[in-house]
Amino acid sequence: MKIMDFFNNVSIKTRLWLIMCFMALGLLIEGGIGLTGIVMANKALDAAYKDSLEPTRMISRVMLLMGDNRAQIMLWLQHDADGQAPEIHNNDPLMTHTAIIAKNRDEITALVAEYKKRNLTAEERDLADKYAAARALYVNEGLMPAVTVLQAADYQKANKILLQKINPYYETANARANTLLQKILETSKSGYDHAEERYILIRNIVIGSTLLGLLLGAIAATLLIRSIMRPLNRAVGHFKDIAQGNMDEIIAVSGRDELGQVLNELSTMQDKLKTVIGELDHLASTDKLTGSWNRRRLEETVRSEMDRLKRYDHPLCLMVFDIDFFKKINDCHGHNAGDQVLIELAAKIRASLRTSDSLTRWGGEEFVVLCPNTTLSTASLLAERLRNKIASTNFPEVEHITVSVGVAECLPGESWEQWFKRADEALYRAKSGGRNQVQIAPEAPNRIGVGENVAANFVQLVWHESYESGNEVIDREHRGLFNDANELLAAMLSGRPADEVKIFVDTLTRDVVKHFQDEVEILVAAGYPGVTAHAAMHRELVNGIVALVGRFHAGTLGLGELFNFLAHDVVAKHLLGADRDFFPYMGARNLDIGRKEEKGSNIG
Ligand code: GH3
Ligand code: MG
Ligand code: MG
Repeated sequence: MKIMDFFNNVSIKTRLWLIMCFMALGLLIEGGIGLTGIVMANKALDAAYKDSLEPTRMISRVMLLMGDNRAQIMLWLQHDADGQAPEIHNNDPLMTHTAIIAKNRDEITALVAEYKKRNLTAEERDLADKYAAARALYVNEGLMPAVTVLQAADYQKANKILLQKINPYYETANARANTLLQKILETSKSGYDHAEERYILIRNIVIGSTLLGLLLGAIAATLLIRSIMRPLNRAVGHFKDIAQGNMDEIIAVSGRDELGQVLNELSTMQDKLKTVIGELDHLASTDKLTGSWNRRRLEETVRSEMDRLKRYDHPLCLMVFDIDFFKKINDCHGHNAGDQVLIELAAKIRASLRTSDSLTRWGGEEFVVLCPNTTLSTASLLAERLRNKIASTNFPEVEHITVSVGVAECLPGESWEQWFKRADEALYRAKSGGRNQVQIAPEAPNRIGVGENVAANFVQLVWHESYESGNEVIDREHRGLFNDANELLAAMLSGRPADEVKIFVDTLTRDVVKHFQDEVEILVAAGYPGVTAHAAMHRELVNGIVALVGRFHAGTLGLGELFNFLAHDVVAKHLLGADRDFFPYMGARNLDIGRKEEKGSNIG
């Protein structure tokens, strides 16, 4: 790994140079070993030649010359006039034999002396000495006495010396020369074997070092290729990701070489691109003046929120705000002051929203708030609170402004355009109803009963004579509950301290429980056949109240949710829904509520 780290931190240029130098050095060492091998093999051959061929030539020559001298004696004997061959052998004078014998003898002496000067083994030296002794006998006892008697032309005696001395001494000397020759050949054979061994060793070293060089070269080349290809492939992968718009991959930069620099620059480029794309996206989806979303962004979000509504049945609400008489503000205070009001208004609304809500400038002086996961009643409360807050805010440029608001909950199966149209129509009603107010879009007629319609539009409950059952106690208590709910709402909207709001919660709770008891007693007395089912309904609502109020006091339930249940589910829906079933049993007044117009569901 250390080698890889080193490789990654050295520039590719340096790496290539290093590898080339490494290869060149390998070739140099390889060449050196090969050349040394050739020199050594040459020397070994030279030694083999000197150790074998040269002495062999010398001793062979000695043997030849010795034989020639014996032949000269025999030829000399042919000059004997009493013999049969003088006529045949008459072409060389006697002096020729003398001279040849002397010359041969001197040459042998010189050759033997030269041979003995060589670097001989003890055995060779011993054999050479033995040959010299035999030769001395041959020369001194045979050859030279024969020359002397021949010069005196005593052929008889010379023939005797030839047969008795020269021939046996020659045999011995020749045999010893031959032994020496065999020894020389033996020695040179072992020298040759040695040279061959050395040659094989050198050959193996050259082959081994070549293979080692190739292996090291292959390893170095693999490391080099890996050190270049790995980061290169990573860089290609990152380029592909970026080209496909995926910029979430972290680009890890390892190494400081050229590819490390490429990855580093790529990482910087990706970060810059992300920032620029983020900025562009922000610009493309934001209103320049107020920093709110623009229509494009809202419509994108609405689509995904409507999907969630379809899949999980989450409530989804929309508020459309329009500043009242804004044209006048521009006319009186100038366009710049108008702009300033728009900026401040947007900031004010944004500060009051939950993080999941979003503010969009729909156009001009018209804003839209999208509230995911919010029921119509909660959205209505929020709208009313915002309206109230804006009306009581001091805008430095113009002092006071008011807004009209339309609220609508998205209905299942409804399109964005239909939903927005309902909110816009509610806004129109708010304008035509006198401005500075909230209007809630009614749900589709086939989804709602009378009580639900009242509840859906509920911001303040207004008692209407059509709600009367005919029983004095029940009607008094119903009116009292309307009043309790309105007081609680007023306390919430006016931002009264939590302790005070809690008192209204407790009052409403206590009055509901008491009323349910009274009502059941009256229904029993009146002989209402559905009393058991109605009492069970009461028990269920009371259980709900107890549980929710408990959670509210423990701080785990928001006031909005509790209010929603108490005011809408218990007071408005139950009183104006289920209770109507027993109205016919309450004395003389059998009111047909279903045919009466619902004027009581006013927005105050
Ligand atoms: P209404 O209560 O019926 O809504 O009356 P209004 O005067 O607010 O409504 P109208 O639609 O007649 O006028 C809206 C004005 O808002 C007209 C236009 O000059 C002004 N306006 C639109 N966009 C801007 C803006 O960006 N800056 C400023 N200063 N004024 C704007
Ligand atoms: Mg306006
Ligand atoms: Mg307008």
